[in-house]
Amino acid sequence: MKQVLYFPAVLLVLLTAACGPNQQSKNSTMGENPLLSASSLPYGAPDFTVIKNEHFQPAIEQGMNEHLAEIEAIANNTEEPTFDNTLVAMEKSGRLLDHASGVFGLLAGANTNPEIQQIEEEMAPKLSAHRDAIYMNDKLFQRVKSIYEQRESLGLDAESLKLVDYYFKKFEQAGANLSAEAKEQMKKLNGEEATLNTKFTNIMMAAANASALVVDDKAELEGLSDGEIAAAAQKAEAAGMTGKYMIPILNTTQQPALQSLKNRETREKLFKASWSRAEQSDENDTRAMILRMAEIRAEKAELNGFQNYAEWKLQNQMAKTPEAAIGLLSKLAPQATTKAKAEAADIQKLIDKQGGNFKLAAWDWNFYAEQVRKEKFDLDGSQIKPYFEMYNVLENGVFYAATQLYGITFKERNDIPVYNEDVRVFEIFNEDGSAIGLFYVDLFKRDNKSGGAWMGNIVEQSRLLGDKPVIYNVCNFAKPAPGEPALISYDDVTTMFHEFGHATHGLFADQTYPSLSGTNVARDFVELPSQFNEHWALYPTVFANYAKHYKTGEPMPQELVEKIKKSATFNQGYAFSEFLEAAILDMEWHTLTTADKVEDVNAFEVEALKKNGAYLDEVPPRYRTSYFKHVWGGGYAAGYYAYCWAEVLDNDAFAWFEENGGLTRENGQRFRDMILSRGNTEDFTKMFRDFRGQDPTIEPLLKKRGLL
Ligand SMILES: [Zn+2]
Repeated sequence: MKQVLYFPAVLLVLLTAACGPNQQSKNSTMGENPLLSASSLPYGAPDFTVIKNEHFQPAIEQGMNEHLAEIEAIANNTEEPTFDNTLVAMEKSGRLLDHASGVFGLLAGANTNPEIQQIEEEMAPKLSAHRDAIYMNDKLFQRVKSIYEQRESLGLDAESLKLVDYYFKKFEQAGANLSAEAKEQMKKLNGEEATLNTKFTNIMMAAANASALVVDDKAELEGLSDGEIAAAAQKAEAAGMTGKYMIPILNTTQQPALQSLKNRETREKLFKASWSRAEQSDENDTRAMILRMAEIRAEKAELNGFQNYAEWKLQNQMAKTPEAAIGLLSKLAPQATTKAKAEAADIQKLIDKQGGNFKLAAWDWNFYAEQVRKEKFDLDGSQIKPYFEMYNVLENGVFYAATQLYGITFKERNDIPVYNEDVRVFEIFNEDGSAIGLFYVDLFKRDNKSGGAWMGNIVEQSRLLGDKPVIYNVCNFAKPAPGEPALISYDDVTTMFHEFGHATHGLFADQTYPSLSGTNVARDFVELPSQFNEHWALYPTVFANYAKHYKTGEPMPQELVEKIKKSATFNQGYAFSEFLEAAILDMEWHTLTTADKVEDVNAFEVEALKKNGAYLDEVPPRYRTSYFKHVWGGGYAAGYYAYCWAEVLDNDAFAWFEENGGLTRENGQRFRDMILSRGNTEDFTKMFRDFRGQDPTIEPLLKKRGLL
């Protein structure tokens, strides 16, 4: 399955278009299924003009059958196991399944519909059973094990050796060494967990939609811009509530409108709608599901001989143990909360000065922080946005930086079919004109798109298979009215740099084996390229190339640029604390043993934060347990800390650039050669040390966050 990379950004989820049952494709005949044959388009790009909902399930099912037959043939081969007849054969297997699920994964996240959601829920346990059928196949494991045991004498190159190690550990982690009885138990738990993961993800969209704040009176929205109020009126109308106003709920605990809503009561209502979205004791309440998932994960870990899920899952990560991960979080938490408390005191002073006569609450934070920001830095978000027209940022900022660093160029391909009119496709070339791959970019928020921003692959780079990468970035930026420019915030700008950083990791991949290619790396390493790429957004020559007024083309006045720079460390106590709290919650849920019986999700959450000295009333976690999609729906269980782990690395890598002449083609090439093109072919600690010349230190991170 393809990896989808989430960025914990503030992004939108709106009303899902309710589609009546039986309306679609009842009478359509199957015809030829385009997913069953190789695409004739460049790079094997999917032909979205002919792919229909009803093609997915048969293609994925046939893909699983074919894959399983290939695997059986490898496992039952009467010849002695060799690297070629076992591991290379495995790398070549499952082509149809990869292709069909790659396209399906893209649409399920970025352009879904009730039929696709239905297929997802139905296929999740089947795909889980399929993985189990491979990784718990004892004959196959015995072949892999025999190759692993003689690996040093096989004369393999470094990448092939890594592949041997990769498969052996993957089998081991999947439970290939378990007794027959324990294997059956694992399979059952995997299936149940996969079903719950998918349900949770689909509920997230429904819960956010159901919790959207509706107000009757425009006066309650005082502080929002005319455009925002018009959008709220439109939302309400679309939902059949003409004359009212609807504010959608986004992924995170804090909501963008809280920054400008003057009415404290409205702020409180909006915040509480967000906070309790998945705790309404209705069909969107996720708490029972979460307790069961936590239990399942602890049981799976125990079956495999580990104390808890985190210990089991962190073995092949850069951190290696939960202690190392928690160690980093708890080293940083006191610095972050101390800063947050100082920020809270500043805000309280302002509230008192204005005669507020109340104690700062979570729903007040952003509203007053924005005023403190204006007071301290005289920086107003609305002054900045006209300099950040979205496509200008993409082409003259994100792409420009990549050209300067890595020598690559971009050519738009209007002839490649897309799944939505908002999607743009670019072909990417090396300096010498050789082609690298395709890049799809889908930036606007839609009602049928999951919240957040992410990168994914439709085709993974591989020399063995002769494949060049086909990669996409998906974001959720507000779509302007027709003819209006899409003006985005500076946060959104960094999100674009972030996701393209993941894309560079996939595009520059230079591996033989697809399993080791590009972003198929440890989770606590995978955010290094993306977070590293964010640093270029403010780099003077890059910034000057894109930050231009959308009307006049004038560069952003230097005075404003300085303000952005100075305010970069503003509110970092809050931002870092809310992140660390979420990371702590993730670790606490995943270091539970089967003996720990949790009954109350909310009580557990409060206790977990208090225990780690990270509980602050005014600073709630970025994601609450009940809507923490990264860990209950996405692939970040026991892995949310990874953003922070990688943040140590990205700041330290950028420090290397600063020490060595900054943005130069030569420095970029070095990073491309030593990190971005390496995939999972080497120990990550070594890979980083080779690039940096030393082990990473946390000082550059603390400096960047203004915590030093
Ligand atoms: Zn990311």
